[in-house]
Amino acid sequence: MSTTYDLIVIGAGPVGENVADYAHRDGLSVVVVESELVGGECSYWACMPSKALLRSGSALRAAQRVAGAAPADAKLDPIAVLARRDSFTSNWSDAGQVDWLQGAGIDLVRGHGRITGEREVTVETPDGEHRILRATHAVAVTTGSAALLPDIPGITEVAPWTSREATAVEVIPESVIILGGGVVATEMATAYQALGSQVTLVARGSVLGGQEPFVGDAVSAGLRELGVTIVHGSPTSVTREDGVVTLALGDESVSGAELIVATGRTPRTGDIGLDHIGLKPGTWLDVDDHLQVHGFDWLYAAGDVNHRALLTHQGKYQARAAGKVIAARANGTQIVSTPWSDHVATADHAAVPQVIFSEPEVSAVGLTAAAAEAAGLRTRVVDYELGWVAGSSLQADGYSGKARIVVDEDRGVIVGATFVGQDVAELIHAATIAVVGEVPLSRLWHAVPSYPTMSEVWLRLLETYRSEA
Ligand SMILES: Cc1cc2nc3c(=O)[nH]c(=O)nc-3n(C[C@H](O)[C@H](O)[C@H](O)COP(=O)(O)OP(=O)(O)OC[C@H]3O[C@@H](n4cnc5c(N)ncnc54)[C@H](O)[C@@H]3O)c2cc1C
Repeated sequence: MSTTYDLIVIGAGPVGENVADYAHRDGLSVVVVESELVGGECSYWACMPSKALLRSGSALRAAQRVAGAAPADAKLDPIAVLARRDSFTSNWSDAGQVDWLQGAGIDLVRGHGRITGEREVTVETPDGEHRILRATHAVAVTTGSAALLPDIPGITEVAPWTSREATAVEVIPESVIILGGGVVATEMATAYQALGSQVTLVARGSVLGGQEPFVGDAVSAGLRELGVTIVHGSPTSVTREDGVVTLALGDESVSGAELIVATGRTPRTGDIGLDHIGLKPGTWLDVDDHLQVHGFDWLYAAGDVNHRALLTHQGKYQARAAGKVIAARANGTQIVSTPWSDHVATADHAAVPQVIFSEPEVSAVGLTAAAAEAAGLRTRVVDYELGWVAGSSLQADGYSGKARIVVDEDRGVIVGATFVGQDVAELIHAATIAVVGEVPLSRLWHAVPSYPTMSEVWLRLLETYRSEA
């Protein structure tokens, strides 16, 4: 195996794999360094296992909401759900992804990678050797992020679960406390309650605070209906006695068999050699729209580690741009820096889509009404009850949900959309196309949604917009 490559990628998560793939397709020799499993957090401890844990519950609830489909008292079979989850993580084996790398012609070095100089990475291999790799063109850091443990007295002593233990669970605990009010917290609360745990969600602020305000209200109500207890407060200490974890919240306390901490992410840059190149270890890597780290012509950072959007699909989008830019520079072809070119991650700024697989589901893209206003746009907000759409009432008896679009009045285009309700995940891509394509509302009028689908909410939103003009 060589020691010199055009490109060295540190971290073989979904983002690292894509940077490598896109650069290699454009003719570069590429090596990927991975300290754990090829496929990264997403494949083994995040997106895939969490969605596998959630899907059976959402399918059961959907069936129970259609008369005649499933008994109201039907329960999940946790053993079968966990077995299905195991199949999605390939039982935590990365053999399939290693095969893919090999087939693509990308080399893999297992071990912990550290930058030890300009265009130089030293890998500490599992057998303790130090292998020096040199790049003729670039180094891409795609080391992702890790769960952030909050600073609460007693926290490490109670051996809390993070998203890793929560998604790799082997026996569903009788009860859990979930600390956090964000995406991971609400998704895990949905999954664990459906799998038979008694969940207490402890949120410091509002639930799903970064979204439109009606989202947190709907998800809080949905979780409570499932049986989740939601408590608002700031933990002051945590203890474990006789196996039971107790979280003190001032004068009150909550208890459970396990504590799942879902209070945010920290960059995996603490021990990747940033100090060797004058950067501060443990910080997010600041990049421009070409994913190039500020101040370096050979260093790139894509995915979670640059903190632009902590989502697999958006990191992979950045990876496609970074891979192409690195290859273009190496091949001496022109880099196009204008927005929306293949070489820039323009969508990161105001067109990031996201689905939250909570009960109820949430999907959103672009700016919330508050964010659009803060950005100085002259906006109009249009809301519509999803339950009033014929397709929704067929989807579920008594369907309840809401849709919002945020219109930039000066340009006559949609800059943000949010849906909350059952099965809204698949509604979001139409909104993403409208936002990214800057489709004028006058033209969107001619995008006729099929009857009777939930997508008819688009017609209702546009009719509402016109009637309020
Ligand atoms: C519970 C949970 C659920 C999620 N669900 C979704 C979802 O449904 N959809 C979605 O879009 N996003 C989801 N996310 C976010 C998603 O997991 C991340 O955005 C995504 O994994 C980021 O990919 P990445 O390649 O940047 O980093 P990672 O997936 O974290 O991969 C980084 C890789 O780098 C390796 N590495 C780190 N340091 C070194 C080193 N020094 N040397 C060698 N290798 C190293 C790591 O071992 C790892 O394999 C979820 C996150 C969590 C926590």
